[in-house]
Amino acid sequence: MKQTATASRTNGRKTKTSTSNKNQNAPSRNSRSEQNSTTRQQSRSSDTARPASGTRQRAASSGTASPSRTAPANFLGNGHYLEKFFIDQLQDIYYAEQKIVQSLPKMAGSATTEELREAFEDHLHQTQRHVKRLEKVFNVLGQKPEGKKCEAIEGIVREAEQIIKETEEDTMTRDAALIMAAQKVEHYEIATYGGLIQLAITMGLYEAADILDKTLLEEEDTDMLLTEIAECEINIQAELESMQSGEEEESTGESDTAGEGS
Ligand code: FE
Ligand code: FE
Repeated sequence: MKQTATASRTNGRKTKTSTSNKNQNAPSRNSRSEQNSTTRQQSRSSDTARPASGTRQRAASSGTASPSRTAPANFLGNGHYLEKFFIDQLQDIYYAEQKIVQSLPKMAGSATTEELREAFEDHLHQTQRHVKRLEKVFNVLGQKPEGKKCEAIEGIVREAEQIIKETEEDTMTRDAALIMAAQKVEHYEIATYGGLIQLAITMGLYEAADILDKTLLEEEDTDMLLTEIAECEINIQAELESMQSGEEEESTGESDTAGEGS
């Protein structure tokens, strides 16, 4: 179950709110983005209320670089465990997003249906914006944008490439398999952005959290769109295609046997 939880510190007291976007009465595709956005904005209203005085008042001093902005006062710098981990994860997803930019054109070009191809192409444009947003987050924190090799995305993308090799061109089975591969990518991104946003809120890095949240919404919408494409059409057609190919094989086998007997 997708869940967003937000926590804010007010005078040392920690409050926590939790919202779920899993709706029993699933909304239509068009209304999902809007509803998702509204729900998140409601939950975020408690985050953006900056604490009057927090525990993170020391000035940043040990960031690795300060490209065009200095880090906010409550960002303690790379010498601190949580800050270092946060930057490390930003570098991980920065690398991952760039890898996805390289991979999506191949996935789009391999898709059988126009609908899936368009979904991949649209998400490619979004992913290019995700890269830019991450650069903005690095900038907000006074850090130089840098990627760090992400073994997870390397593996997931390799798996997608394998799927293209192992499925036949122009089949619905190819599309059903491509959707699964793409959703693995989205889920990795959702997990990473979700975690980064929570850490940013905990550290009082609200501007960074807001930027990352925009991307998280788009990843979640893409994931839902892929589910809908699969459930509404592609999986059913892949099943029909599979039954038809089985019947054809059977009839070919029968005629071969008949030919041998004559
Ligand atoms: Fe992305
Ligand atoms: Fe994505």
